[in-house]
Amino acid sequence: MNKVIYFDNNATTRVSPEVKEAMDLFLTELYGNPSSIHQFGGQVKKHLEEARAKVASLLGCQPEEIIFTSCGTESDSTAIYSALNAYPEKKHIVTTAVEHPAIYNLCRYLERQGYRVTYLSVDEEGQLDLEELEKAISPETAIVSIMWANNETGVIMPVEKAAAMAKEKGVLFHTDAVQAAGKIPINLKANQIDLLSISGHKLHAPKGVGVLYIRQGTKFVPFLRGGHQENGRRAGTENVPGIIALGKASELALKNLEKERSYVGQLRDRLEKGLIESIPNIKINGARAPRLPNTLSVSFEFVEGESILLLLSDYGICASTGSACSSGS
Ligand code: PLP
Repeated sequence: MNKVIYFDNNATTRVSPEVKEAMDLFLTELYGNPSSIHQFGGQVKKHLEEARAKVASLLGCQPEEIIFTSCGTESDSTAIYSALNAYPEKKHIVTTAVEHPAIYNLCRYLERQGYRVTYLSVDEEGQLDLEELEKAISPETAIVSIMWANNETGVIMPVEKAAAMAKEKGVLFHTDAVQAAGKIPINLKANQIDLLSISGHKLHAPKGVGVLYIRQGTKFVPFLRGGHQENGRRAGTENVPGIIALGKASELALKNLEKERSYVGQLRDRLEKGLIESIPNIKINGARAPRLPNTLSVSFEFVEGESILLLLSDYGICASTGSACSSGS
């Protein structure tokens, strides 16, 4: 294959060598089931709990407030269904019009099941209007779900203020932090977010592992039922190699957060400047809003996004129009 120039890290990332090394042992040597009574299983369980503590450090929460899932999508679904099942009398959801399909399409489905959903709009910069949020929350609202950072524009939403607003009205607040985790600081001790989703494959761990943070004391109803895993909050044998990998990836992300932020941010700004200087009729989306350091979203007037992508692909350059899940639509 020709050299690949990979600009598609919001779709997925490469597993880093340290992460691969950390997980390898759990595919070959330490393959026991963490729920087994024997010492071999117990040894695996110990490592699993260490990984939990590492993810908790990245998020600034207690290890007991985290459950491992199979992906960001499962974490998102679990959060929404938990709120709807915990407060069955409440039939209203507040979210935004720019959520990833993991939330957006779930909400569209729930509308067909009889729930009412308010999709908050964003302005020209991709930013949310908190006044609109304030008006949307009602006594009927079961949950507010607003992404921390948008996967297409990288725009960072004021989720901490939004969470405080929801809390004041006694409503649960969830954030899809799949794109934010590992790229900007997160400290759940310092805010009022009740539920938060992340996904391993967006921060250099493999695909197939995610996390849902559940603030201590939050009413929670499991999504997957059956076994007693994750303290009865998520049934199913744990994806141990994936979890170990996510632990390592979280440790690395936390350690390198500031360095990566400024280095990758500078690279992004240089690319952005180069595009503006050399191509007429382009617009940088979200340029005046706070953005993730790694994300650049550009509109090219008069040209179809998909044809640009195909041409770039011929040169080995990987990029996206919208989220990877929207390809073909
Ligand atoms: N939420 C956001 C913001 C995402 O960008 C993605 C993946 O693109 C997801 C959720 C879904 O995560 P996963 O692929 O782990 O299901």
